[in-house]
Amino acid sequence: MLKGKGISKGIAIGKALVLKKEKVKIEKNIVENIDKEIEKIDFSVNSLIKETEESIDMLRESSNNEQVKILEAYLMILQDETLTHKAKELIMNEKVDCVYAIEKGIGEIITNFKNIPDEYIAERAKDIEDIKNRIIFKLLKIKENNFVETEPNTIIVTQELTTSDTAKINIENVAGIISEIGGTNSHVSIIARNKQIPMVIRIENIDLKIKNGDILIIDGDTGDVHINPSKDLVEKYKKLQIDEKEEKRKLEEYKNRVAETKDGYKVEVSCNIGKISDLEDAVDVGADGIGLFRTEFLFMDLDKMPSEEEQFENYKIIAENMKDKLSIIRTLDAGGDKNIPYLNIEKEDNPFLGYRAIRLCLGNKEMFKTQLKAILRASAYGNLAIMFPMISTIDELRESKKVLEECKKELDLRQVKYNNKIKVGMMIEIPAAAIMAEYFAKECDFFSIGTNDLIQYTVAAERGNTKIANLYTKNHPAVIKLIQHTIESAHKNNIFCGMCGEAASNFQYIPLLIGMGLNEFSMNSSAILQAKKTITELDKKECEKLLEDVLQYSSDKEVEKKLKEFIVS
Ligand code: PEP
Ligand code: MG
Repeated sequence: MLKGKGISKGIAIGKALVLKKEKVKIEKNIVENIDKEIEKIDFSVNSLIKETEESIDMLRESSNNEQVKILEAYLMILQDETLTHKAKELIMNEKVDCVYAIEKGIGEIITNFKNIPDEYIAERAKDIEDIKNRIIFKLLKIKENNFVETEPNTIIVTQELTTSDTAKINIENVAGIISEIGGTNSHVSIIARNKQIPMVIRIENIDLKIKNGDILIIDGDTGDVHINPSKDLVEKYKKLQIDEKEEKRKLEEYKNRVAETKDGYKVEVSCNIGKISDLEDAVDVGADGIGLFRTEFLFMDLDKMPSEEEQFENYKIIAENMKDKLSIIRTLDAGGDKNIPYLNIEKEDNPFLGYRAIRLCLGNKEMFKTQLKAILRASAYGNLAIMFPMISTIDELRESKKVLEECKKELDLRQVKYNNKIKVGMMIEIPAAAIMAEYFAKECDFFSIGTNDLIQYTVAAERGNTKIANLYTKNHPAVIKLIQHTIESAHKNNIFCGMCGEAASNFQYIPLLIGMGLNEFSMNSSAILQAKKTITELDKKECEKLLEDVLQYSSDKEVEKKLKEFIVS
């Protein structure tokens, strides 16, 4: 058995199709005719643009929306003149050949992207690398694999599956994917989760360990891969597959059900989204609203600041699709681990404690106002709310609200419609804000607790640092007390309190949050149905008793044990 990391759940049983890639060696050559080299680059890029457009048309015909959107993003990169700018400069200044120039010129862009410590941006760097390799293939006239025919129940095995590869595969026949390289946020893993295709990554030299036609079992939950398994093992996994399907089918029941405990305590289960394309899944699983739209991804996807109009169009889509369901648009939370290159944020020693989120917006009022005006305008089309991230002082909240009022006045002058009563809330993700929650609650309409950051700031353990992952825990009694105080303060002041950090979807933690009286649980679409099921099986009074017990503990280990026991009983 091989062991990797499962990044798209489920079990797949099928036949291996190993995709190998040609490697090219690139050397530096000096040329005489520089115009000809530049012409070759333009010709190759243009023919790639044409091919991508053709693929988009083909996929559109087969209604492959997710792949269409991904290729459209690809097309945007190809059409951007800055992509080959550096390469052309190299040809003109150093008289190098076009292949070397592309390798070096686009290579520099990729390195800049890779230096940004953000998993999402790192994945986009891979898209640019894929494009660079395809331009080089074109320049060298190397024929790429054309459309890969797949039989039903194919398991793709590859070193790396790029975005353009996915467009060449009949994804409907793919039962599973194993890829040596990859990340949770890669486009391929997004497609896999969307289409519920089990996927395992990070198995070294995978294309040497598995041959074409091998029978494989892959488990997207555990990351296990079995090669040519025994009949008994296949039978065992087939049974597990049936149980899994049955489980999924049963969860469908919760799509249009209200999340209500056995003793009648109703809550909302909403969706966290990072892109407009996530909206489809949110609607699909019957989310009660959007509890968090991380707008920074809208800014990260572009190479310059999105205009008021561009932002308005995006926020309007959310308002229109979610109709009367509350959709919370969080203002730009850049900085920290989410760098946006064109904002030119100075390098800091401690970016998580630095110039980020609301601090950055209040320091760049015009940028902040552009976003607020776009959200306000979109509020005329549905039930939108505004949420400020990383608030630590009451003055920040007051100043942000003041800027919002200025935006309303400017829109009045422009005679543009918006919802004047739009709800304004804030994230509670800094311990200072949680401790002072009763004061904040008097000056805003709702809270949403961001446990991802709240934990790291409470226990002083960075959220992505695996060396100290044992310290980064939502079960620390201090974290629990901060959450409880926040919810209590919200309720004393008659405002609602949600949670959009990862803890909201944890089935062992949900009872504790129900015990505290949390009003809204917001999470990724894939977790919504399971969370609704968990909630409907609980009794609020029992959860309150659980909370009472947990509040007596001083150790996170004791908390963890108690929460585990509670869910089993
Ligand atoms: C959080 O901190 O819990 C949160 C939801 O915000 P983000 O993960 O975007 O920092
Ligand atoms: Mg946060």
